[in-house]
Amino acid sequence: MIVDRLGRRFRNLRVSLTAACNYACTYCVPNGKRLVPAKNELPATEILRAVTLLQQATGLDKLRITGGEPLVTPKFDEFLTGVMQLPLKDVSLTTNGQLLPAKRDVIVDSGIKRINISLDTLNAVRFRQIARSGDLATVLRGIDEMQEAGIKVKINMVPMRSQNAGEIVPMLDFCLERGIELRYIELMRMGHLLNSNSFAADFMSMEALLDVIGEKYEFARTDAPYDSTAVRFQIPGKGVFGIIANESEPFCRSCTRLRISSDGHLYGCLSNARNQHLGEVLALPDHLALTKLQGMLVSALADKKLAFQGEVTVMKFIGG
Ligand code: SAM
Repeated sequence: MIVDRLGRRFRNLRVSLTAACNYACTYCVPNGKRLVPAKNELPATEILRAVTLLQQATGLDKLRITGGEPLVTPKFDEFLTGVMQLPLKDVSLTTNGQLLPAKRDVIVDSGIKRINISLDTLNAVRFRQIARSGDLATVLRGIDEMQEAGIKVKINMVPMRSQNAGEIVPMLDFCLERGIELRYIELMRMGHLLNSNSFAADFMSMEALLDVIGEKYEFARTDAPYDSTAVRFQIPGKGVFGIIANESEPFCRSCTRLRISSDGHLYGCLSNARNQHLGEVLALPDHLALTKLQGMLVSALADKKLAFQGEVTVMKFIGG
């Protein structure tokens, strides 16, 4: 097994199925232009082969499907069905939820047990201002349909001072009422936000979020798994919420994540643009592919930073 001096190894694989997205969120893309697929995106069969090889090489047992927006690509159905056949302990999906009603059957039939839905506001007008596309009612319907089908839903919200700061508590109320764990994601210095004034103006720290939540709820910090991205808090008798505190309390020292971009590049760290292309490896027979992968994985693990420093790379390329 490949382990670094902090004891970090790869356990979690994040697969970006496509760089394309049906939204153009203000914090993700600078110019409001919808994202398109990357050049030379891999077909579902090749991504599945990459996952199988990476699993054999690392023993990873958790996989998250992300993007771009994974539900917009035609290969979503084949990939989801295929990946659910692999011997992984945990498969999850991160989506903006806009296509959940349209993809309900394939998702439910796949047997997937949990889904993270990104939702920054419960206000339909603000929704269009942040996502610059889509509609809130369809996402809410998707959330209901997933819960009715027995799939565990978490909601991810990125709080921003100038946009949705007034919804920190209303979003929590909404989630607690539905038995959903809300996770606030601290705004990250990715892409155009790196060194930008709008990052400084909009950023809300974990402390600032807890101050707002504390005005309504009493909470206590609770356990989170060793390599969890979120710091978790229990509200007695009501439920749990989390904060993905990339800035305030980075989880880099216990990070077990490895990423594949939609065009087959391997990334060891979200805060490092260094990557390696898998193309040649996927063309080799298994035993040679695995030997070559070992070297790539050692290098990818060495790319892991000790703290999140931000990165010019946009989340769409490597998945959030
Ligand atoms: N389209 C899918 C979705 O919306 O969940 C998956 C990809 S999206 C890049 C994954 C997550 O990254 C979303 O929850 C999104 O809010 C978050 N994200 C993107 N850019 C971010 C930034 N600069 N800071 C914090 N979170 C960000």
